Formats: sequence, structure tokens, C-alpha cells
Amino acid sequence: MSISIKPNTTGLIFAMREEQEGLEAFIQHKKVHRIAKRDFIQGELWGHPVVMVLAGIGKVAAASTTNQLIHHFQVNQLILSGVAGAADPFLKVGDIVIADALLQHDMDASPLFPRFEIPLSGKSRFFAHKNLHKELQNAIAQFIQVMQEHFSASLIAEFQLQNVKLHTGLIASGDQFIHDSKVLKELKQALPDLLAVEMEGAAIAQVCEEHDLAFAILRTISDSADETAHVDFLSFVKNVAAPYTLGILKNYFENRKIPVD
Ligand code: SAH
Repeated sequence: MSISIKPNTTGLIFAMREEQEGLEAFIQHKKVHRIAKRDFIQGELWGHPVVMVLAGIGKVAAASTTNQLIHHFQVNQLILSGVAGAADPFLKVGDIVIADALLQHDMDASPLFPRFEIPLSGKSRFFAHKNLHKELQNAIAQFIQVMQEHFSASLIAEFQLQNVKLHTGLIASGDQFIHDSKVLKELKQALPDLLAVEMEGAAIAQVCEEHDLAFAILRTISDSADETAHVDFLSFVKNVAAPYTLGILKNYFENRKIPVD
């Protein structure tokens, strides 16, 4: 099937199947393109052209998928919605983080280059796009205000979602599921403003930066990146993070003005 390019297409990247499934049910005019062993699902969400794809886990999977979205679909912005481990005790499971900057915490070519710096680029941090960031912040705030409409009282009690907060700041990515308080502590010492750790965001950010493409990374805190990190991880993703993604992106697309070409 040949791909027809739609202007103003948003690329939506997911790391885990549970995160994509909720949204897939709402996609209209659906066409599936199989490229490089992934299904790229093209269609419309609440009147806006999108391509959604399950990238899989880790930086290479995320970077490769981002490239495909740019090359084959010419997306004009890219959003990843997923889960992350908290890197600051101020953040609680169920809180939402939107990255204003991203960094690869496992990049270390020292002593040739400073730790975290992408060699020969002079950069360690990639910055999210201001307008897209602001629009998503609004969509998240709107979602948090009506949490009770999305979740039963028992689920809110089970996952302690009574006082969910939105945070903005640094997210670090690496090819590691962090589940060790010592590893986390060392990272936090090196990066005092670090809010959350995950495995894809900064790779997407680096590719988008090469293409001058707007991107946003939003993450629901699923664990504390310590010894308890694996407990109920999948149940959280399914019951909490996936409905968050659906609710937030629905708000975002419903509020979004359709750009005039
Ligand atoms: N146990 C899962 C594996 C998930 S890997 C499974 O069997 O499917 C973790 C995913 O969630 C990655 O996509 C990563 O971006 C994010 N993540 C959540 N908590 C994390 C943590 N503590 N450290 C690193 N990544 C984390």
C-alpha cells in the first residue's frame, strides 16, 4: 500500500503495547503500513491526522522509529506518551512529567568528552518545543481536574491517585530499567535537577533536533526506580498509564486548532 502524505500529521510513539491500544480504538480512516517490522497506523484522531506506532523499548528502537516517521510520513511534530521511574522523592507514582529537556544518562565518552555529552555535538541536553509543550501542559492540567470521571473510586484508592501533580523538567533516558536506589542516587547527584528516568525520550529528542522537528515527551510516573520498581508495573501501565494517555491526548487534539496550510 503506498503512503499518502497528509499535511500537519502528528507522530505518536509508544514504548509498550498497553499504552497504544486505548488510542487505537478511536482512530478513524485507519490504514496500516508495515515498515521495518513495525506497524505504522495512519488515520485521524478527533479530526487530526496522526500516525501511531509501537516503537518498542530502548533508545535504538525509539531513534529508528522516529526516523521512519519522519522519512515515510513527513510528520510535522512528534509526541511520546509513556511511563517513567521517579528520580526525585517529590514525585509520586501517578504524577505526570513533561520534559522541558532530555539527556542520555548512559552516554559517557569521558575523558574525551564531558560525561553525558553527545560526542562532537557539544550538546548533552535537547530541549522540547515551547508551543507543543504548552498545549500538552494544558491538556494534562485539564485531565487532572476531572480524574474522578476517568477512574473508579477504588482504582484511585488502590493506586493512590488522590493528589496527582504535573511536573516539568529534566528527563534522562538510557538502555537500563533502573531498579536500584544506589544507581539512582548516583545519577541524581550528577544531575541534581533530574525528575524522571526512562528508556526512549532522549533518543527521540536527538533525532528530532537533527530534523528541526517539534517534539514532546510526557511520562506518567509508574515506579520509584528503586528495588520496588517492578512491583505491579504492568498492572499500573494497563490500568492507569494507558487511560492517562488516552485522556490527555484526547484533550490535546480536541483543543488543537487545525492549522491553515
Ligand atoms: N517489564 C516490562 C519492561 C518495561 S521496560 C515488560 O515486561 O514489558 C520499562 C519501560 O517503561 C520503558 O519503555 C521505559 O521507558 C519505562 N520505564 C518505566 N520505569 C522505568 C525505570 N525505572 N527505568 C527505566 N525505564 C523505565
